[in-house]
Amino acid sequence: MTNPENESKTVNIDIRKDLFGANENAAALNAEIFKKHGIVAVDIMGSVGTGKTQLIESLCEHLRGKYRILMFAGDLATTIDADRVASHGVDTIQINTGTACHLDARMIRVALQKVNLADYQLVFIENVGNLICPAGYSLGVDKKVVVVSVTEGPYMVRKHPLTIKHADMIIINKIDLVDALEFDVDALEADIREVDAKMPVFRVSSKTGEGIDKFVEALNL
Ligand code: MG
Ligand code: ZN
Repeated sequence: MTNPENESKTVNIDIRKDLFGANENAAALNAEIFKKHGIVAVDIMGSVGTGKTQLIESLCEHLRGKYRILMFAGDLATTIDADRVASHGVDTIQINTGTACHLDARMIRVALQKVNLADYQLVFIENVGNLICPAGYSLGVDKKVVVVSVTEGPYMVRKHPLTIKHADMIIINKIDLVDALEFDVDALEADIREVDAKMPVFRVSSKTGEGIDKFVEALNL
């Protein structure tokens, strides 16, 4: 005997879908906030040791005379990266994520509430150092940049195709070490093209500044 009044219900929740959906909504809000203040925002992702911080330092050296820059440093525990960028006369916000291995849109939102956005025109976000999950969480930026380094060995791209796919631009960093490592950059770039034939790829040395100009140009900065 069934009584419609007392029928039990099962609610099915796809937790991944709901969590990602909530993040997408928060990211859209961030994008609105950036737009309203005329701010260009760039999310920089990559494993620990690929030179994300050094890339941002190099960009700041290039651009600080032209734009008022704010840098967000996502890190599990330290302020090392924020301190390095701050030494270039750029304002920084440290976001310590504790155990979270990526930044999400709400973390950025909270951070945005702590500054006077009218003071800035350009925001660099250094994501937490890992190449797996940051790409899955939109932050509401204009450009998502993935940094791979020739020091990581030949398989970084092949092993992280989704991250590559989510990117707007890829930097192959530490290009100054290619000869010493006998690294095949063409092969790495071919792996990127395999994932996305139209992906803009930039060979850069954050250390020497090689290739930075072209990258800056591609960012329309
Ligand atoms: Mg760093
Ligand atoms: Zn994560």
